[in-house]
Amino acid sequence: MTTKKTHKITLIPGDGIGPEVSGAVVKIVEAAGTATGVKFEWHMHNAGADAFEKTGEYIPKALYESIEENRVALKGPVTTPVGGGFTSINVTLRQKFELFANFRPVKSLPGLKSKYPDIDLIIVRENMEDLYAGLEHTVVPGVVQALKIITEKGSTRIAQFAFDYARKHARKKVHAIHKANIMKLSDGLFLRCCRSVAEKFPEVEYKEHIVDNACMQLVMNPYQYDILLTENLYGDIISDLCSAFVGGLGLVPGANLGTECAIFEAVHGSAPDIAGKNMANPTALLQSAVLMLHHINEGATAERVQTALEQVYREGKVLTKDVGGTSGTREFAEAVVAAME
Ligand code: ATP
Repeated sequence: MTTKKTHKITLIPGDGIGPEVSGAVVKIVEAAGTATGVKFEWHMHNAGADAFEKTGEYIPKALYESIEENRVALKGPVTTPVGGGFTSINVTLRQKFELFANFRPVKSLPGLKSKYPDIDLIIVRENMEDLYAGLEHTVVPGVVQALKIITEKGSTRIAQFAFDYARKHARKKVHAIHKANIMKLSDGLFLRCCRSVAEKFPEVEYKEHIVDNACMQLVMNPYQYDILLTENLYGDIISDLCSAFVGGLGLVPGANLGTECAIFEAVHGSAPDIAGKNMANPTALLQSAVLMLHHINEGATAERVQTALEQVYREGKVLTKDVGGTSGTREFAEAVVAAME
């Protein structure tokens, strides 16, 4: 087969389970590319504590430049210190490249037994505002204030993204998730923006659920939802909740999308409890890579990966521990590559 194109992609392996899952994913994507005649040039840069040790910067200048140039990155998880330390790398990158939309499809894989079969949900999460603006200060000792930033621009932009997606992909319903009964101004503004965008999409049903009720409703009957449109923090929490419907955090992919660049990363974090043990499930990052392949218009390569992945799950012989198997990260990756042959 003749080679069509070489794609330059920034690769951030991350830390914790990051290097293991990103190594597995690169191997699988490379194999799919070989079969479909697509080449990849991986520009590897790290971020976070590891990068700081080597370069003195948490996000090295070379990483910023690489994303600016390539406009597409595949990113493993980078640990965020809890209760102090440096600002989240994930949040910083989203801010820097104005990746305003966090797109997280939660879809059942074939063969995996679950209390909730055939789940097909999309979470569209605002990615730059809300309490993630990181604006906190001590008012007086013992009193801390965190500012929740919600803007008309940010809320309208994410609502527009959700409804555009619904229209383009013939999805039927959008639920805006909020707490506007308590946060009347901030969540109230978010809802007003969602409503005014919804008016332009009469073919898409629009509903509103209060976030705490939405959590209960999701567990009782997730099938009533289609697209969940959320602010930043609610979206983060609801993503982890929804991941449980399809087998957990090892499975759910994500895309951080802006107008110029895109960074593809799993919903999960760096999972230090299983790091370095060949235990992590690379499926979430692999499905993020599938989203990335569609984004760069390599649909055939994306399909090749997804079909092989689904075959491995359907057969159920080589699966990682989190989804009931006994195999390791590397063995699982080898099985996906073998399923492509
Ligand atoms: P963050 O806040 O940075 O997103 P988190 O607090 O949600 O991180 P994770 O690091 O995602 O925490 O891990 C939560 C749990 O899920 C851990 O028990 C971890 O082992 C498990 N887990 C996360 N990712 C995977 C994976 N790819 N494969 C298997 N288990 C995973």
